[in-house]
Amino acid sequence: MKEVLILLYGGRSAEREVSVLSAESVMRAVDYSKHTVKTFFISHQGDFIKTQEFDEKPDEDEKLMTNSTVELSAKIKPSDIYEEGAVVFPVLHGPMGEDGSIQGFLEILKMPYIGPNITAASVTMDKIMTKHVLDTVGVPQVPYVAVIGQESIAEKIQEVEDNLVFPVFVKPANMGSSVGISKIDSVDQLEDGLREAFKYDNRVLVEQGVDAREIEVAVLGNLDVKATLAGEVVKDVAFYDYNSKYIDNKITMDIPAHVDEKVMKNLRHYAKLAYRTVNGSGLSRCDFFVTKEGDFYLNEINAIPGFTQFSMYPLLWENMGLPYADLIEELINLGKEAFEVRE
Ligand code: ATP
Ligand code: MG
Ligand code: MG
Ligand code: MG
Repeated sequence: MKEVLILLYGGRSAEREVSVLSAESVMRAVDYSKHTVKTFFISHQGDFIKTQEFDEKPDEDEKLMTNSTVELSAKIKPSDIYEEGAVVFPVLHGPMGEDGSIQGFLEILKMPYIGPNITAASVTMDKIMTKHVLDTVGVPQVPYVAVIGQESIAEKIQEVEDNLVFPVFVKPANMGSSVGISKIDSVDQLEDGLREAFKYDNRVLVEQGVDAREIEVAVLGNLDVKATLAGEVVKDVAFYDYNSKYIDNKITMDIPAHVDEKVMKNLRHYAKLAYRTVNGSGLSRCDFFVTKEGDFYLNEINAIPGFTQFSMYPLLWENMGLPYADLIEELINLGKEAFEVRE
């Protein structure tokens, strides 16, 4: 009997299109001698729709069904995804996917799933919470001002002027793919940047901008944690925004990153430390800033990083000798292991 792998994709967050690409990549790479794949699309409104089933590798022109191709009337109750013995891969990014909500739901259903548990997902989804938690174990991070709710904006602008130096980056606390983020060069633009970020969350942070290379480490494991050599996102844009990530393809990846040995060792050490501190499980991509002087800061932990065959996370593992299809198998096994510990 082949094991059933359930892919959940789409989702309610602003990152749903990225999720479709990641899920499509997974559906093509799964080892079909071991698994059948059943896919469920989650619409923008949060409806669950049963989409496709694959017993073998789909044709190149086969695409996952999305909003435009799916019968929205065919929606099911979310709990109808349940199937005894199946493993779920929530290939979802951003709020309502990467933040612990779907993970909690799957635990209630008593289903094994791939990726972060409830704590790891909820802590890492919130950039302010992540800073608090990682501060306690001495992970280097850039200075910031947290803005909780919109009433305190005037006061917070003053706090930014007093404590940070322009440019600064304004970000919704809970988001990804650079959605809602702006680079702010002077104080008179700050309020607009804050309003933009508040469209996505009522928790916003203003971060000290750093002139730095962006270098990332992939982490894999439950209690036994492994970290890859780091890779660099080489960009010739002011910042790595949504367009440069997914539309213009203006990014190249340098794997392994050309950094000195001591920096490399430190990045891998702090990636693992950060992962363990947030109770990481399954996988995460730990993103750092590295300055010319060799100073480094952890920018964020992505608990369900972009997962297409050409995304940084799988490429970092490929460089360590773990190809994409085997990485998926490893993640399935880690998901089952975490399930056994829970149940
Ligand atoms: P992801 O898609 O990786 O989940 P995200 O939406 O969580 O991204 P960040 O990684 O925090 O957002 O920021 C997006 C980009 O903005 C970074 O990759 C970097 O290019 C730029 N950036 C963010 N914060 C800073 C900073 N403090 N200094 C300099 N650049 C920054
Ligand atoms: Mg992120
Ligand atoms: Mg992300
Ligand atoms: Mg990022």
